[in-house]
Amino acid sequence: MQVVKSPGKLTRILSALQTKGKKLGFVPTMGYFHEGHLSLIRRARQATDVVVVSIFVNPTQFGPREDFSRYPRDRKRDLKLLAREKVDFVLAPSVRAMYPKGSRVFLNPGPLANVLCGPKRPGHFRGVVTVVKRLFDIARPNVAYFGQKDFQQARIIQDMVQSFKMPTRVVICPTMRERDGLAMSSRNVYLTPEERARAQAIPKSLRLAKQLISKNTNTPRGIESKVVAYLKPYVDKIDYVCVVDPRSLRRPSKLRGTLLVALACFIGKTRLIDNLIVSR
Ligand code: AMP
Repeated sequence: MQVVKSPGKLTRILSALQTKGKKLGFVPTMGYFHEGHLSLIRRARQATDVVVVSIFVNPTQFGPREDFSRYPRDRKRDLKLLAREKVDFVLAPSVRAMYPKGSRVFLNPGPLANVLCGPKRPGHFRGVVTVVKRLFDIARPNVAYFGQKDFQQARIIQDMVQSFKMPTRVVICPTMRERDGLAMSSRNVYLTPEERARAQAIPKSLRLAKQLISKNTNTPRGIESKVVAYLKPYVDKIDYVCVVDPRSLRRPSKLRGTLLVALACFIGKTRLIDNLIVSR
């Protein structure tokens, strides 16, 4: 496994490999790995010849009052885990390398960023699409792997790839969960034991939504208010609970076809997101 800091150097190495016909798989991350990250890497390892993982805590996707500086980091452990997964290349660039002096142009993430987390985290998806565009330009992957846990992010990246006709296929992989159902997240380390216990209510509320949807005696808004009522005693603040079409991320008028139930809430100071796809 080769750890590369320079984007230009990685581009040169990878384009030489691609010229030889190697299929390139890419997993962008912010590090502090858990089984969720590793599941994407294993998927890439199975399906592609050369696996590239980036570790970059992207400052432009954090709001001024968000957790950029205290976001958990453990480079040594991360690299050990990547070596064990037989990753070929790790891109670990500096902020300067990703945002050269004077870089002032950003991408507009488009309409999919106007719903769900978008209004609650102004500028977040703008930072995400900009850095992922830059990472795709560096690695030029054939396939890139994203987690369903951040479903809106993955959809916006798919929209970007389609909009710019980029030659990368974006694969969305299932959410890995703890034994009690809580979605794995680097941010779970922020939770105190008491908060961690309350966090179980999040996956439970999604399972409740699934049951209610299967009964079909309700509307999307009706489901949303029942999930909010269920969650309220356990969490400190609810940003949103939404039942939407997984393509448009818009709320349909009726419960039909495939639906995404997505939510964001705070437990203590920690903001957690989760979602479930329900077909009926
Ligand atoms: P992050 O390091 O949080 O930016 O995540 C890097 C990638 O891992 C993103 O595509 C996430 O959606 C994905 N990911 C994060 N948590 C999970 C999880 N619990 N299961 C599957 N994928 C995940």
